[in-house]
Amino acid sequence: MNAATAGHGHPGSALVIGGGLAGIAAAARLAEAGWKVTLLEARAALGGRAFSYRDPQTGRELDNGQHVIVGACRNLIDFLERIGARHLWKLQRRLDVAVYDRSGRRGRLYGAPVPAPAPAHLLPAFLTYPHLGARDKLQAGRGLMAAMLTNRRQPHLEDMTFYDWLRSRGQSERAISNLWNVLVEGTLNDHARDVSAAMGLMMVQDGLLQGRHEANVGYPTVALGDAIGKPAQRYLHRLGVRLLLGRAARCINAGGDNRVHSVTVGNGETLRADAYVSAVPFWTLPNLLPDALAAQPPFPDLARLQTSPIINIHLRYDRAVMRGDFCYFVQSPLQWVFNHSGIVGIDDGGQSLTVSISAAWEYIDRGRRELAEMIAGEMRAAFPKARRATLLDSVVVKQRNATFRCAPGASRRRPGPRTAAPNLFLAGEWTDTGWPSTMESAVISGYNAASAVMSDRAGAATSPEHNHGRPMG
Ligand SMILES: Cc1cc2nc3c(=O)[nH]c(=O)nc-3n(C[C@H](O)[C@H](O)[C@H](O)COP(=O)(O)OP(=O)(O)OC[C@H]3O[C@@H](n4cnc5c(N)ncnc54)[C@H](O)[C@@H]3O)c2cc1C
Repeated sequence: MNAATAGHGHPGSALVIGGGLAGIAAAARLAEAGWKVTLLEARAALGGRAFSYRDPQTGRELDNGQHVIVGACRNLIDFLERIGARHLWKLQRRLDVAVYDRSGRRGRLYGAPVPAPAPAHLLPAFLTYPHLGARDKLQAGRGLMAAMLTNRRQPHLEDMTFYDWLRSRGQSERAISNLWNVLVEGTLNDHARDVSAAMGLMMVQDGLLQGRHEANVGYPTVALGDAIGKPAQRYLHRLGVRLLLGRAARCINAGGDNRVHSVTVGNGETLRADAYVSAVPFWTLPNLLPDALAAQPPFPDLARLQTSPIINIHLRYDRAVMRGDFCYFVQSPLQWVFNHSGIVGIDDGGQSLTVSISAAWEYIDRGRRELAEMIAGEMRAAFPKARRATLLDSVVVKQRNATFRCAPGASRRRPGPRTAAPNLFLAGEWTDTGWPSTMESAVISGYNAASAVMSDRAGAATSPEHNHGRPMG
């Protein structure tokens, strides 16, 4: 038996299950407050769904998927600073996204260079944006004003789709496809048709219209493992967190009073703590719980949450085919194309690119070879230089359960950090953070869980029970 119980001088001990950003943030916050923390992660490295790996076929270090942040991700950006990784991420000083259509026509969504308050800073881009006609623009301008003025917390907005809300505000199919969906698909990983109006409005209000810098785009300049997992591991190590990597929790054990008393690990080992934080995905958690606890709120609701897929295609050409760090395509399977060589700073005469397809419902069940060929063809159509270039290799990475779906009604099924078990707390980007399935949401959820652990402990410390020396764990 291996005990993770509190030692002298600690406010308490905590066992965090899952080493994605949610678990990392929870562990960090608790350890910073002096808790004795153990973090259990099934895989050999931290980072969860934001990871990179050595591809056996090409020998290259590849990300599981291009990860993008925006200026509004304040908790994540601050967290990257704290773990010493902020310099490994590039963040635009001013929003600037080149948007192409299939005919190669180029537009830009950008913040005006002259200081102007939001949303006026978007006006020049809006007026010159070529993918909307004059009538669409007029309606889109009205739609943006309506989005700004709507209280997204009205219950009916959680039940209707963003698409229906947009249509009810006079938005044309073209405006939805060439403007609104550009904002929604990459951030919510679903079409406007499939997300709630409340969440669509959240992205537009908080991610675009709230301030001049909210929509500035950021991305790692090194492999994801070096940008998150490794610096986080060093930081937790410095804080004295005990890291158990490559060790999966098999079950969370609770007594008749619902109180969790231990966690059994794959190898049969038992870990104990005062507080337990689950930071595993929502589809994994019910399998770890005893039946009696799994039947109590909020756990039965988790079965009704859904996931949405992302596909990334890593391409390596013998020469440069695109300029700039990234661009976006409307009405094309390409969506985001990132210039990996340019961002990472590799100058070997060739060029590595990453095509990132959000809401990849149409493609997720297709074969990898077929997908690689389809994307190579789209690249040739979109980039004249790709027609003369030789594609040296391509790797297709499918992530079927990339993110949870912000479908209508889903927000009501996202639980807060507390559960029916008084000492079991929940973290994970799918918990109730107000954000969609993002790294920002994961970090917020970790903080929420840590705060709940600490406030319950503080409450217990002042309760007569605790003052009478009730043993911990
Ligand atoms: C392809 C792709 C692209 C994405 N793009 C973006 C993007 O551009 N921007 C953005 O903000 N977000 C993006 N995301 C979403 C983002 O990666 C996630 O929202 C975030 O990383 C979730 O963090 P988490 O800690 O909540 O969950 P996870 O990262 O899933 O962490 C859960 C951890 O629990 C571990 N675990 C599971 N079971 C057990 C067990 N029994 N015992 C111990 N450990 C266990 C897992 O191994 C994992 O490490 C993307 C995701 C994918 C897949």
